[in-house]
Amino acid sequence: MNNSIYLDHAATTPLRPEVLQAMEPFLAGNFANPSSIYRPAQEARSALDRARDVIAGALGAKPQEMIFTGSGTEANNAAIKGVALASRDRGRHIVTCAIEHHAVLHPIEELVERFGFQSTIVPVDEYGLLDLAALRAAVRDDTVLVSVMWANNEIGTVQPVAEIAALTKARGIPFHVDAVQAAGTLAIDLADVPIDLLSISAHKFYGPKGVGALFVRSGTPWWPLITGGGQERNRRAGTENVAGIVGMARALELRMWERLSAYEHARTLRDFLFEQIPARIPGTRINGHRDLRLPHNANFSFEGVHGESLLVALDVAGIMASSGSACASGSTEPSHVLQALGVPNAVAQGSLRLTVGRDNTQEQMERAVEVLAGIVGRLRRLSPVAGRA
Ligand code: PLP
Repeated sequence: MNNSIYLDHAATTPLRPEVLQAMEPFLAGNFANPSSIYRPAQEARSALDRARDVIAGALGAKPQEMIFTGSGTEANNAAIKGVALASRDRGRHIVTCAIEHHAVLHPIEELVERFGFQSTIVPVDEYGLLDLAALRAAVRDDTVLVSVMWANNEIGTVQPVAEIAALTKARGIPFHVDAVQAAGTLAIDLADVPIDLLSISAHKFYGPKGVGALFVRSGTPWWPLITGGGQERNRRAGTENVAGIVGMARALELRMWERLSAYEHARTLRDFLFEQIPARIPGTRINGHRDLRLPHNANFSFEGVHGESLLVALDVAGIMASSGSACASGSTEPSHVLQALGVPNAVAQGSLRLTVGRDNTQEQMERAVEVLAGIVGRLRRLSPVAGRA
């Protein structure tokens, strides 16, 4: 995107050339259905098997425990509805967290509104960390699922998933983790942490859009969300997106190889923003936890500024950013995440999420800070908003 600066990697990431290269044989050339029996179909099947091995290996899972899906959203829906509906004779209570993505909250709401389930939403503290004592108290004898994200998409806060997993395992309750923001950035070892279901999405780690995966540990109650053909061992019907799955595997493999250096690169750039933005712009608040957060995520609120005007002005200046989760922007409601943190509405309205990536440079950060400081100053002079401290 020529001279512009892309700072919205939590919304999506660019497709890496190496990933496109791995996908190309299955985009053009070999178009065979991997369920057919002739040779190109067998090659497509082998490519799927290899991709499954790579993804399972990167997550510490067994290949047969991976189900390919059409998105992170589908993986979350399949996990939540799949376990809940398979367990409904045992109990109808689900525990989740206040700052989950809508791809978790909405399926749970649906189960409550249409299928007679109850839910308990565990609160978070002012930094977005889940209250473990409240989670422990929320779990009941009829709880059939606990779902908590690994890392938050808006504020980057990383949850204590290993502690939650120990707790759910002790109670014998399936634990689902939405790792869509964490996969490719944080170390995930399902051989070590007793998580039962885990969702990932390729476009968040430089893979293609519209392809995700769900880990389902052997023995977890399961009811398939999508039925039809017998693909994915009868757990998710539909002809496989061979190119997309091959691309997802290549993208995850590359991210795992470069994980530590990518982490450092992102953290250095992000910490520059954390240091410079509050120093240059008075009335700045950093949202989320200072240390327990994704290395590439920065989230600010600027007193006296409206987030949408800020995003529009940044766009004109060639900076692509977001006001919260991509799906929530466009709405003038303060994000449910910032509300759960207790950020006052007037402050939450002026929020900005900057998420850096592998192609960003120090020089771009300097320019972004310069441009942002100018825009916030101008907006504050032009239209002082109610609630400004
Ligand atoms: N979960 C989280 C935490 C996300 O950030 C997203 C996407 O923004 C999703 C789920 C949905 O993933 P997808 O875009 O692949 O449907």
